[in-house]
Amino acid sequence: MVHDCLFCRIVRREIPATVVAEDEHCLAFRDIAPKAPTHVLVIPKVHVRTLDDADDASVVGRMLLMAARVARDEGIAAAGYRTVVNTNAGAGQTVFHLHAHVLGGRPLEWPPG
Ligand code: 5GP
Ligand code: ZN
Repeated sequence: MVHDCLFCRIVRREIPATVVAEDEHCLAFRDIAPKAPTHVLVIPKVHVRTLDDADDASVVGRMLLMAARVARDEGIAAAGYRTVVNTNAGAGQTVFHLHAHVLGGRPLEWPPG
């Protein structure tokens, strides 16, 4: 099914993105408005609206494993990085296609805002 969704359009290469990793199931690309020196988004290629809509463990698991691989490849894994999945508007989700943020390259405060 073809979705009129920003991230589905990035998967179809209708919108350009700086891709850092890709396999059959997932795509990772740099966030257009980075919040840290490294800020990559990892998405499943299938359209899933939010984490609350996800029901396939392999989709969520593959997304997180690619996030970990990106963090290693970006050289931020040993120092520490954060994976964030904002779910619905109150948590700051603005693009309604499931994605994991990978943030690192600077100290990250806890708790987040
Ligand atoms: P959310 O707020 O939904 O958790 O995260 C969406 C993210 O997508 C934001 O960090 C935003 O900067 C990023 N974003 C929005 N539009 C684009 C785009 O066209 N290209 C890329 N690479 N990132 C985008
Ligand atoms: Zn989509």
